[in-house]
Amino acid sequence: MPPIIGIDLGTTNSLCAIFQDGTPQLIPNAFGENLTPSIVCVTEEGALLVGAAARELRVTQPDRCAACFKRFMGSHEQLSLAGKQYTPVELSSLVLKSLRDDACHHLGTDVTEAVITVPAYFNDNQRQATKQAGELAGLRVKRIVNEPTAAALTYGFHDRDSEKKILVIDLGGGTFDVTYMDVFEGTLEIVSTAGESFLGGEDFTDRLLASLLQKQGRQLETAELQEPHRVARLRQQCEMAKRQLTKLEAVKIKLPDAAGHIADDSLTVNVTRTAYAKLVEPLIERLKQPVAKALRDGRASPDNIDDVILVGGATRMPAVQEFVRRYFSKEPLCRFNPDEVVALGAAVQAALIADDQAVDDLVMTDVCPHTLGVETVKEFANEVKPGYFTPIIHRNTTIPVSREELFRTVAPNQREVHVVVYQGEHRRVEQNLKIGELKVTGIPPGPAGKEFYIRFTYDLNGILEVEAYVLASPKKYRTVLTHNARGLSQAELDEAIQKLQSLKYYPREDLENQRLLRYCERLVGEISPFQRPQLESAIDHFESAMSSGDKESVQVAQTTLLQTLSMLGYDFRGRGE
Ligand code: AMP
Repeated sequence: MPPIIGIDLGTTNSLCAIFQDGTPQLIPNAFGENLTPSIVCVTEEGALLVGAAARELRVTQPDRCAACFKRFMGSHEQLSLAGKQYTPVELSSLVLKSLRDDACHHLGTDVTEAVITVPAYFNDNQRQATKQAGELAGLRVKRIVNEPTAAALTYGFHDRDSEKKILVIDLGGGTFDVTYMDVFEGTLEIVSTAGESFLGGEDFTDRLLASLLQKQGRQLETAELQEPHRVARLRQQCEMAKRQLTKLEAVKIKLPDAAGHIADDSLTVNVTRTAYAKLVEPLIERLKQPVAKALRDGRASPDNIDDVILVGGATRMPAVQEFVRRYFSKEPLCRFNPDEVVALGAAVQAALIADDQAVDDLVMTDVCPHTLGVETVKEFANEVKPGYFTPIIHRNTTIPVSREELFRTVAPNQREVHVVVYQGEHRRVEQNLKIGELKVTGIPPGPAGKEFYIRFTYDLNGILEVEAYVLASPKKYRTVLTHNARGLSQAELDEAIQKLQSLKYYPREDLENQRLLRYCERLVGEISPFQRPQLESAIDHFESAMSSGDKESVQVAQTTLLQTLSMLGYDFRGRGE
């Protein structure tokens, strides 16, 4: 059986794992690291870099880099990268391809199948877009799994004999998910899920960034357009400060100039943990509602919960942990690394699909996170009003599920019906998300009230199929809401494959040197002006050796560069972030 890898495609970082020798294991990337930053860049030479090297370049050349594109999955948003437009699907596929290459290298065999995780709160379009990104990367997506479900699977796999009610709180780089589940006798039953798809660790960084810019009389949105280098460098400083504040009581942030440079005499701002906690209070406040909703839908209360599990890098923040402590009056659990637990769970899901013996006593059931339904009209005092939402599958229904509802025509001799499908919780469709449409024709003539049926089938991937039919007619109108939504058509997919194939890739053995080069380029803007000439000269020498293609001189120049770095007090091997 070909290997099925498990992939956590994150807003900030992505990871890949495989179920091997009876247990899920992470697959390291070309740098021997488990986390691959979900950042893509195109260098001046027109070559593509994905991951850590791209993250370095994001600081010095933000216009050549794209990050956080997961936030736009399923939309028509395009991101500009070195003057060219790319869709979030294309950019995600480049990250997936990089993970796939790492897996092929690690396993010594071709890898063509994967389980990919998505935030539970991802809608139909976003799931389809993720599947398409997998296809573009040459991966058959065997299953789309909800991230908190995957995290739960890791816990469930290691703790399958327990009987517990568990709440998984997953705050990643860009999304927030809460999942309530019941574990008993090897069965993991997801009971309810809620979340927000625009709330994550990046918002916490941006809040600090915006406040520092504001102190200088600037607005984040305009500064990002007018002074991208200043913003890129300051964002990186804020990201570092945010992480340091997990351990330290106070940090110093140096404010870069418009060109994104930091010097010895740059203005320095002191940020304390308390001040940061105050600053992010509105974001912490937004965590409350989805937690309450997941509990309410699961008919549970905070004191019913045995374990609160934290998942996603942003749950490391003391402010988030404090919120959990207060809300549940208990210590949150973090038995597994919150960055890794989702990918490991995806590998367990892959093992379930492959019928691996090591998981034959494990059963998992998941739910549909949104209410799905159609637009209908309502009649009030003889006036017919359109735009109302009639649910067919209610949120938190166990999946897979198939439900049929009977509808009636509203006008005499109405021969066709335009079925418009929405997802959301509002009574009126304009406040919900339109995810597709289909037309039913062949309705026999006659008075209003002719019956027709609409069936919704929601599969284990969270993908919806809609069927509509009239009893009098043998013809069924079916649609899987793929292409008519905001995803890509087959022609667009083919075009994207061609476009991506034209990108130049660095050979695997050159990646470490590329990363070293980009790391040093970033340092140039950060070190003291006195140290700069020495570093620049070593970089020039290294770059020139790399262009010559002569392996021996590259080796020599690399050693010199590493020694120079170490003399200046930087440790590339130790990966000074
Ligand atoms: P994920 O999408 O799960 O990889 O989450 C990444 C998010 O976690 C990013 O927004 C990171 O800034 C954040 N993060 C990672 N480590 C820390 C830390 N030590 N303190 C605060 N935030 C962190």
